[in-house]
Amino acid sequence: MAGKYDYDLFVIGAGSGGVRASRIAAGHGARVAVAEEYRVGGTCVIRGCVPKKLLVYASHFAEDFEEAAGFGWTVGETRFSWKKLIANKDREIDRLNGIYIRNLKSAGVEIVESRAVLKDAHTVHLVKEARDVTADKILVATGAWPFMPAIPGIEHAITSNETFHLAELPKRIVVVGGGYIAVEFAGIFNGLGAQTTQLYRGPLFLRGFDDDLREILAQEMVKKGVDLRMNIDIAKIERTTVGALALTLTDGSVHETDAVMYATGRAPNTVGLGLETAGVALGPKGEILVDKFSKTNIDNIYAVGDVTDRANLTPVAIREGQAFAETVFNGNPVAVDHSVIPTAVFSQPEMGTVGLTEAEARAKHGEIDIYKTSFRPMKGTLSGSEEKTFMKLVVEPQSQRVLGVHILGPASGEIIQAIGIAVTMGATKAQFDATVAVHPTASEELVTLKEKWQPPAAQAAD
Ligand code: NDP
Repeated sequence: MAGKYDYDLFVIGAGSGGVRASRIAAGHGARVAVAEEYRVGGTCVIRGCVPKKLLVYASHFAEDFEEAAGFGWTVGETRFSWKKLIANKDREIDRLNGIYIRNLKSAGVEIVESRAVLKDAHTVHLVKEARDVTADKILVATGAWPFMPAIPGIEHAITSNETFHLAELPKRIVVVGGGYIAVEFAGIFNGLGAQTTQLYRGPLFLRGFDDDLREILAQEMVKKGVDLRMNIDIAKIERTTVGALALTLTDGSVHETDAVMYATGRAPNTVGLGLETAGVALGPKGEILVDKFSKTNIDNIYAVGDVTDRANLTPVAIREGQAFAETVFNGNPVAVDHSVIPTAVFSQPEMGTVGLTEAEARAKHGEIDIYKTSFRPMKGTLSGSEEKTFMKLVVEPQSQRVLGVHILGPASGEIIQAIGIAVTMGATKAQFDATVAVHPTASEELVTLKEKWQPPAAQAAD
């Protein structure tokens, strides 16, 4: 069949999902091309996870220098250069971009530097080259794009995309939103020395995460100097005569700042892709609707990653891309299991989480056992840091299966990756307890939690 088409597979979008799918399909002998209109690597590598984490590292040094004193160090005068950080970050992103391009080429994938638009179920129009190509299978992996609400003056605002290329670090910044990106950037700006305000429209940010983590993170961020305000939003943005921005907030007050960054969610990148022309069904947010094998309602068109709005995380997109290629080009049907996904928020302090939150577990299982602890980690004894570390296990009482683990503190992302194995395997509390502790670490608490947590009323009654 494939012989009558130019390619066996044409992939639109060379981000995490599209690159993985292209390489694996080519490895199974398919003739593959991938179109990318911006830079190979996609959001995660070019303007997401990777540069973000480099900025998180940079912002942490301020605290590290301060804490060094308790360990006997005298740190001389420190000075931070945003320009140098951005230049070094850009060099690293260029290097990674080069690796992605090389890996695609060595797998035999043709890279087309153009926007690609569907003309019908088997035809793709390459806008830059003004020509059409045909393919047996088409994979859409175009990701998502920052969403900003249409308030007056929104054109003065930036998103995380622009933040990575700011000429200067703003002296004052307001971050809007309460998701992953907003808390991560509030921590970055605050650590780098900008006077940072974070505004969230609801009562408590990070909706969907475990409530204890949300509350403790909010307290810790305030202790670190973030002006964190809940139940508030921006109604209007105006440029002042002195080049600053005047934000009229929903409580009527006016807040002056130098920059405002919106991190109010991301929308699937499906506009103008010709999906309607090809008959591909979309959901209410514009996301491409797919089955468990990432197939759309059109038999030969598939979609993976954020454009499908399932779990919008790079490792998930990579898995979906891999599973698609295995299913379609290796005759080995693989469906990605989205039920247990370990994830980290690179807030300061960092959060790591896997499985059900306490609220989700109560809703699903009724009675549950909770084990939790909050403590000042050992390093704080000499550094003087009052930052709390928090750990919580959510356990199903009958089976004793650990349904969720939620942690907040240094290296939570690293810890949760390893704990994620145990939770994915269905480990029980007894198996956690049977694991020998590594001492002295913070994460040894996870295998030494003995007392079930009782709500305050029950504790009083005991
Ligand atoms: P999220 O969907 O996580 O959060 C969006 C936030 O913006 C929510 O707090 C939401 O409030 C708020 N919001 C939405 N619409 C409006 C509005 N009109 N006005 C005011 N506030 C609004 O999106 P992010 O942009 O933070 O991140 C996008 C995705 O990127 C995430 O889904 C995540 O999966 C991924 N990501 C993952 C990272 C990681 O793994 N560490 C890092 C960064 C991003 P409400 O809660 O009330 O709806």
